[in-house]
Amino acid sequence: MKLQKPSPDEVIAASLTLFDPKKIAVVSSFGAESAVLLHMVSQQDPDVPVVFIDTGRHFRETIAYRDRLRDVLGLTDLRVIHPPAEQLQTEDPQGTLHAGKPDRCCHIRKVVPMRDVTSGLNAWFTGRKRYQARTRSGLPFVELVDGKMRVNPLAGMSETDISDYFVRHDLPIHPLALVGYPSIGCEPCTSTATNRDKRSGRWAGISKTECGIHSDSRFDDRTVRAMRTMEAPGR
Ligand code: SF4
Repeated sequence: MKLQKPSPDEVIAASLTLFDPKKIAVVSSFGAESAVLLHMVSQQDPDVPVVFIDTGRHFRETIAYRDRLRDVLGLTDLRVIHPPAEQLQTEDPQGTLHAGKPDRCCHIRKVVPMRDVTSGLNAWFTGRKRYQARTRSGLPFVELVDGKMRVNPLAGMSETDISDYFVRHDLPIHPLALVGYPSIGCEPCTSTATNRDKRSGRWAGISKTECGIHSDSRFDDRTVRAMRTMEAPGR
């Protein structure tokens, strides 16, 4: 696998060759830019599982957009997962945990289901890009997370690249992106951007910048060795 400036399609193709197709998935929020990665993957294999964590707090526009993209892109294996109902009932019976303890809310509604999903995978794709926020400026194409690969094919794409890709492939636009939401998560914690940082509308007014599902990554020589020694599944 080329590790120096590979194109997004090359990263996706190499990953789909390296890993058992039942053990790799796209994890998507079906947000403002999600259509790009989903389109790229669907062009190579529309049967790759696509995982959507339904926190129960998404905009209804996001749920409708998710279903529209599934149909337009021909995604055959959309998997909608949910937070543990018992834990929600115990810790967030009123659905207000986000207001006082957003980290705990994200943990229950996102991190726990994400952990359940990834425990059954060898690798997963994310749609993160370096330009999205200062906190993502050093994002590598591949990360090691608990011995598994987290692959970021779009890491090196620019904002213009993303816009051009939407136009070139006539991709549907998230309805909220049309009215000033450049980054879209749960409804209570998302507002229109407050500055040039595209994620500035996420948890606006508090220091929180990430939900926690993308933390704890490591990219070092072990990652490279693991990718080089990993056997292709013989697809
Ligand atoms: Fe809860 Fe907000 Fe995190 Fe969604 S983004 S899980 S509502 S704190």
